Amino acid sequence: MKSLLRQLTTLSAIAATTCSAAIALPLQVSAAQFGQQPIADDRIVAVAEPVNNGRFYNLLIIEQLSSARRCWQEQGNNPTIVNPLLLTFDFSGICGRSSDSNGYSVRVNGEDLGSRYRLRVEQQGDSLVLVASPSPLQRGLPKLELGRSTGVVNDFVKLELDAGWTLTRRVFNGQTLGHIYLTNNQPLDTVIAASGARQPTSPRPPISSPTPRPLPTPPSGNPLPRPGSPPRNNDNIDYQVIVPGGSALLRSRVNSVEPGAFRTTVNGQSVIQAGRFREQSRANELRQRLVQAGLSAQIVEVAQVNSPTTPTPSTPSANVIYQVIVPGGSALLRSRVNSVEPGAFRTTVNGQSVIQAGRFREQPRANQLQTRLQNAGLDARIVQTTGTAASPPSSPSPRLPTPAARQGEVLIMIDPGHGGRDPGAVGRNGLLEKEINIFIARRLQSTLEQRGYRAALTRTQDVEVDLQPRVDIAERANATIFVSIHANAISLSRPEVNGLETYYFSTGRNLARAIHSSVLRSTDLRDRGVRQARFYVLRNTSMPAVLVETGFVTGREDATRFQSTAAREQIADAIAQGIIDYLR
Ligand SMILES: [Zn+2]
Repeated sequence: MKSLLRQLTTLSAIAATTCSAAIALPLQVSAAQFGQQPIADDRIVAVAEPVNNGRFYNLLIIEQLSSARRCWQEQGNNPTIVNPLLLTFDFSGICGRSSDSNGYSVRVNGEDLGSRYRLRVEQQGDSLVLVASPSPLQRGLPKLELGRSTGVVNDFVKLELDAGWTLTRRVFNGQTLGHIYLTNNQPLDTVIAASGARQPTSPRPPISSPTPRPLPTPPSGNPLPRPGSPPRNNDNIDYQVIVPGGSALLRSRVNSVEPGAFRTTVNGQSVIQAGRFREQSRANELRQRLVQAGLSAQIVEVAQVNSPTTPTPSTPSANVIYQVIVPGGSALLRSRVNSVEPGAFRTTVNGQSVIQAGRFREQPRANQLQTRLQNAGLDARIVQTTGTAASPPSSPSPRLPTPAARQGEVLIMIDPGHGGRDPGAVGRNGLLEKEINIFIARRLQSTLEQRGYRAALTRTQDVEVDLQPRVDIAERANATIFVSIHANAISLSRPEVNGLETYYFSTGRNLARAIHSSVLRSTDLRDRGVRQARFYVLRNTSMPAVLVETGFVTGREDATRFQSTAAREQIADAIAQGIIDYLR
């Protein structure tokens, strides 16, 4: 099926768009090839999934494929909360889960509009609205409303579809496929008219307004604005170094000073976060470097999300894990725990429902989280488990149900950088770093598995995952090593800068060397060295961790290489060989 779809891809009119579309993973097949099949209302649900602690929402579609176990549960009205039960068990074959444009698209009057419309969830007043917004090349098309919630909370919220819209399944040559359509069977003109009539005459601006309110600007010399009133307790404060704005260009400029920078939001406004520190002096240092590069960097005090940023030299007694839980299982409780610890999720301990807020090998980290939860009025407890035998079955992360590695078992955690709304670096010919990263990561995983190693990904799809959850996924899975995959960028005016850089912070040095030399052996990438750097995922993981910058999307040579599938696979396979060399 794959090869057939690939052939169809080349036949369709993709050549007209950019190179990045031509190499993009989603396979676009011309619309006429597909049919649609209805799905019973009670077998499928559209959900707004909170991302980044409810700062924005992603469309998640859950489908009940078999009746073996319930995939979700609904509670309440205004809004209706969806409890995604599928996250608590291995749902393959039982539930379907679509969370990006590979999994769902818009179909109107028998025509696939996936290349013309993107599905998004927007907050409009006190509703979460499911909209189809026209792709960048379709400026003439109006935005469509497809459904909305009856309220907003930081939880999984049910989206009720507007009249005329249903969820259907893609059919090809009589075979049903996994792809879900948001379907309307009326002509597009009628749909547009109906959608326009439903929208308020003066719609509220979307969350990321094009003219953002200015962030509090510190008087020079005192780089510490205090948005809101965060706790003054120094133990609970991080110093976040940001540059207001959210463009790919800005991000790439910040990246050239601090390679780990990424896009996020502060007080609802787009910013590039260059760093986050416990120590104010380090934040000042970074801010100064950014200012010297002509960037308007600021420091914002924020309540700590997790763990000290300086790695705790851990001498954990190999077997003991400290699990921080809050007894109970309601969506409300989960949402309260989430507001303290965004990665929290529902699970069971000794047969009882709990919200697990964290799981650590170091007791001080567990204590710290317990205190933060107790300060928020939650009945947090620490459960000490030995190995994985006594811990809850596989304690899945909400994003990646990777069963934790047993003691002595090797698990390689692969971390494809960026994703979703965070494209990472944007390079020549529209190359998107996030697409390169996930491609190499997937190939790396399959190569390692073919060679008998267990490997897992921190994200398997094109979704935005914050940095701490990536660390959490690796820690929960008890990974042996952590390998983050990125592509580098400097500036489009520097095509001569090309080459491989491999980073470590503390324990990853030998792993970095093994990977670096393997990639140099099997590719013609230039050698830009093994380097030490303070990337978040390197500082905060407890296992040997490296970050591989697999080439420059802005470099002439490297960008050309990235455009070749075979060359990307070669890089991935060489990383795999390096990992195996290290583990032997
Ligand atoms: Zn990156």
